[in-house]
Amino acid sequence: MLAEHMTWEEYRDVITKNLIILPVGSLEQHGPHLPLNVDVVIPTSLAKMVSEKMDVVVLPTIAYGYKSHPTSGGGQLFPGTTSLNGITLIHLMLDILRETYRHGGRDFLMLNGHYENIAFVNEAVEIFAHEVDDAKVVTLCWWDLVTDELVDEIFAEAGFPGWDTEHAAITETSLMQYFAPELVREDKIIDDQSERKPAYSIFPAPEDIIPKSGVLYKATYASREKGQKLAKQVVDAIVQIAHQEF
Ligand code: ZN
Ligand code: MN
Repeated sequence: MLAEHMTWEEYRDVITKNLIILPVGSLEQHGPHLPLNVDVVIPTSLAKMVSEKMDVVVLPTIAYGYKSHPTSGGGQLFPGTTSLNGITLIHLMLDILRETYRHGGRDFLMLNGHYENIAFVNEAVEIFAHEVDDAKVVTLCWWDLVTDELVDEIFAEAGFPGWDTEHAAITETSLMQYFAPELVREDKIIDDQSERKPAYSIFPAPEDIIPKSGVLYKATYASREKGQKLAKQVVDAIVQIAHQEF
């Protein structure tokens, strides 16, 4: 079900029939314990899990994303956080949608894994939707599919800080422990937070709104079991959305 592993003939035979998933990620710091590709591993792994439950074509994940914001990803100063301008990301996604459409793809699901991407994902899809009249695209962020009940359960001890602050913290660490434990530096997992969290943006960002570690919340509350629960719930929700919308 991975487009990149198909031959052109195999691709031709499935692209017109199946839902096409395009995971969108980033190359971004995720603290001292997680690799730069967390926002790639999570949506890619979720898409692969979906492919075990229904026929889908999973396109190669976009490995770069829009710029990291200080209060939702630590900002642009961390080495390795390598980001695209919004216009570049829009054109990249638009080109992929147009090309896939040209080969017969009509049903698309954009599976976003990086908090700052979503406005640009929606903008690319908005432009694409004006160009064609027989395609449908659903866009979503995986964390929006986590129910309030599971949020209450997962954050019972630590408290829920909001999804923007949940960066390199409980849910992302848990999902990485489940999907790619070999990439998690277990001995480097820490809790951290910024000295203050303003409800507005400041350019350039002052130091006291960015934790030095790059961890924005309490990563020590993560566990593989939490990751497994999150993955199952999100995948079940995506399958349900796919059946409802396509
Ligand atoms: Zn992330
Ligand atoms: Mn991110």
